Amino acid sequence: MQYNKKSVKDIDVKGKKVLVRCDFNVPQDGNGAITNDKRIREALPTIRYLLDQGASVILCSHLGKPKGERKMKYTLTPVAKHLADMLGVPVKMSFDTVGKEATRLCSEIQPGEVVMLENLRFDAGEEAGSELYAEHLAGLADIYVNDAFGAAHRKHASTAMISKYLPAVCGLLMEKEISVMGKAMAEPEHPFVAIMGGAKVSDKLGLIGSFVGKCDSILVVGGMAYTFFKAMGGTIGSSICDDKSLGLVKGIIEDAESKGTKIYLPVDTVIADQFSNDSNFMTVNAGEIPDDYMGMDIGPKTVEKYSEIIKRAKTVIWNGPAGVFEMPKFAHGTEGIAKAVAESGAVSIIGGGDSAAAIEKLGLKDRVTHVSTGGGAAITFLEGAELPGVACLLDK
Ligand code: AMP
Repeated sequence: MQYNKKSVKDIDVKGKKVLVRCDFNVPQDGNGAITNDKRIREALPTIRYLLDQGASVILCSHLGKPKGERKMKYTLTPVAKHLADMLGVPVKMSFDTVGKEATRLCSEIQPGEVVMLENLRFDAGEEAGSELYAEHLAGLADIYVNDAFGAAHRKHASTAMISKYLPAVCGLLMEKEISVMGKAMAEPEHPFVAIMGGAKVSDKLGLIGSFVGKCDSILVVGGMAYTFFKAMGGTIGSSICDDKSLGLVKGIIEDAESKGTKIYLPVDTVIADQFSNDSNFMTVNAGEIPDDYMGMDIGPKTVEKYSEIIKRAKTVIWNGPAGVFEMPKFAHGTEGIAKAVAESGAVSIIGGGDSAAAIEKLGLKDRVTHVSTGGGAAITFLEGAELPGVACLLDK
């Protein structure tokens, strides 16, 4: 899917009130402190651009899953404070989203000022895709900007409905996400290699299926490898496995054979006697996992074999860690894959979530072409499905 949408740079924003939908869904610790501010940092170019152009900026986002209730654990107040520090401009926090305070703050706002609305998901209308809620949000501003790539696959009031009521364009982050990934998918240079990992096979089968016939190689890693092994008749001990997906996985393997895409499975695997960093662990050949052991990471032979394939690639897409990388003992596979991708010189796209966190943690972010801010949205986009939060924006 390639989009050619207007961005903030294609319209006149001077003196206008601009409602910017951001993805400020940042991870926090038990005390509400932000533990990774990537999503706030990535929103800065659009906000700075609008302020420099003399716009009044009204920010909105969701955070967590308050499910339509005002749960203060999910307030955006810490994000507003963090953002104000980064911007060097005060950010006025509104206690509500479309109520009295938001209406007052947005009517008083002046060019160069910033207001942050409270968590959109405190209102059930957001996730329900309520047109009425979208209309109320639209009433606060003159222009709508969607910069929330991470939420663009959702048909929510603030992502897909609001464009009915305001001129709607994309922000600079959204523009970057859809142009880099769109181009890579439309004209991939070959060899084109996809690395697919993580735990939730069912979430990614659509993406893996869409890569069949398009990619030269699909390297399967992480927890999802065991569903592939089982589908092919292997023994996987007590490794995670999505039994409901076995039929689909078999279909994908057959389809790949007939369409010339080679699916690789790990040749060795690090196994453990319990799901813990303190477990007893060892490395065995893949497919030889004893009953009471579970696969936790790809082994060194797999890292070596996959690195060779990645080194020769011209386009690489990576989604999902190669093992339980949160536990240091089982992070080596993910680290090895991250290094191979960074060293490949290929156009490299990291499809959000945990693989993005791994690349950042290893300090390799600047050595890959693009680290997406969206997990589910990146998967939806890469598999060629429509993103409602982008489709609704004005065409160039
Ligand atoms: P996903 O959200 O599907 O990308 O999955 C990410 C999660 O997969 C991470 O939290 C990893 O710890 C987990 N994961 C990766 N490999 C394995 C494995 N072999 N067994 C269990 N979980 C895994």
